[in-house]
Amino acid sequence: MTLAELADVNFDALPFWQGTEAGDFLLARCGDCGEAHHYPRAVCPFCRSEAIRFEPASGKATIYSLAVTRIPEKPLRVVAYVTLDEGPTILTKIVDADDAVAIGDPVRVDFEKHPEGLTAAVFRLARNDK
Ligand SMILES: [Zn+2]
Repeated sequence: MTLAELADVNFDALPFWQGTEAGDFLLARCGDCGEAHHYPRAVCPFCRSEAIRFEPASGKATIYSLAVTRIPEKPLRVVAYVTLDEGPTILTKIVDADDAVAIGDPVRVDFEKHPEGLTAAVFRLARNDK
């Protein structure tokens, strides 16, 4: 799916996907109650306000839960829930993880361009940063 196709079917999330395309991790926040949420919605899931705005997020998170798939001679495949420093817990992929990956590990956002067109937000272990 391209950004143009996304705009037709899910305009609520368009700013988020435009952000990932530009290498920015944007988080939706309610202008009335102040709560952040993800995935992006047109109506606040906490107070039903429509005053949603997007703001840059830190891109820092902690692994809340994870599932590891091991396939011989292939990199680990890790799907995880990570809790963003801003509060929301989101489902994502941990890239370039090693066997020591565990609940509680700090991670940071990165981006992965998909062949269909959209750029996904993924996370990688922060302890591997130099
Ligand atoms: Zn709200």
